[in-house]
Amino acid sequence: MIIVMQGGASPQQIERVMARIQDLGYKPHPIHGVEHTVIGAIGDERGKSALESLVGYEGVESVIPILKPFKLASQEMHREPTVIEVNGVQIGGGGFALIAGPCSVESETQIIETARAVKKSGANMLRGGAFKPRTSPYSFQGLEHEGLKLLAQARQETGLPVVTEILSPENVDLVAEYADVMQVGARNMQNFSLLKKLGKVNRPVLLKRGMMCTIKEALMSAEYILSSGNPSVILCERGIRSFEDSTRNTLDLSAVALMKEWSHLPVIVDPTHGTGVKSLILPMCKAAIAAGADGLMVEVHPHPEEALSDGFQALLPEHFQEIADSIRPYLELEGKTLYRPTAQTLEK
Ligand code: PEP
Ligand code: MN
Repeated sequence: MIIVMQGGASPQQIERVMARIQDLGYKPHPIHGVEHTVIGAIGDERGKSALESLVGYEGVESVIPILKPFKLASQEMHREPTVIEVNGVQIGGGGFALIAGPCSVESETQIIETARAVKKSGANMLRGGAFKPRTSPYSFQGLEHEGLKLLAQARQETGLPVVTEILSPENVDLVAEYADVMQVGARNMQNFSLLKKLGKVNRPVLLKRGMMCTIKEALMSAEYILSSGNPSVILCERGIRSFEDSTRNTLDLSAVALMKEWSHLPVIVDPTHGTGVKSLILPMCKAAIAAGADGLMVEVHPHPEEALSDGFQALLPEHFQEIADSIRPYLELEGKTLYRPTAQTLEK
């Protein structure tokens, strides 16, 4: 339920409503808007009729049910787009994230060389996996802690904030020490214990849609993070499995437009995993921007033929440069801004 307070409601009236919500066994989530404060009462739907009595409280304008099952992630709860700021880079509300880098962090030279190149082309964030979820246990699993240190070094050298994947709840604190944004991969989208743990972390989470998950399920996974206390979730469409076998996945761009319609959270697109075909990356980047995306994530490697993972889909830095240049008029058309990072240090 959403409790809409009157324009002039006093802090005491808001406090009383919040306390009553808590007494009824719900969690109050206040949002202080310019004109009104609205309070989301989140919890078990079965007892929600008890919340209707709040309409009689002083300062309350109305009590409205949230129809979507993803309450905190929904537009009903939060009409304004959420803007997530990472070291000066704004994502959402017109701010656009251009995230580029290798699939895996492999060596100091590889990650530094890539970071410098993508920064020069206009990327405002660096990606790279230190913990890799691989289909085969015999494939490269990532440099783990060493990889995180190399990412921190690349951030130090270039000022680019880093996005890296977190695979398990045990490593959340370690990864949070190094990462500016914690990525949850497609294979972990419904790892609920991981999502709950990420709800307690002071880092934005980039949540990839599972390859066999619906849009609603993706939003419910975002809800796990939000309801556990972390308001900073970036959704990512990275393609779903279909009968089509000419592309690695089927990039569902309608999901971008629909997630933007249903949710206030920023949505980005990963056309690299979404297609697995290098020649499709540029057209899908343009299409993603037209569909309303708040960012793009692209794999780039200085020597794709030597890559330890996903080399077949990695772009050379010069190809990434072409993409970064080609999307500028599309960003302008959609009124998007590529903010540059400001701070190099990671705030705890
Ligand atoms: C990745 O970003 O390298 C990755 C493993 O992506 P996904 O989880 O989308 O497969
Ligand atoms: Mn990859």
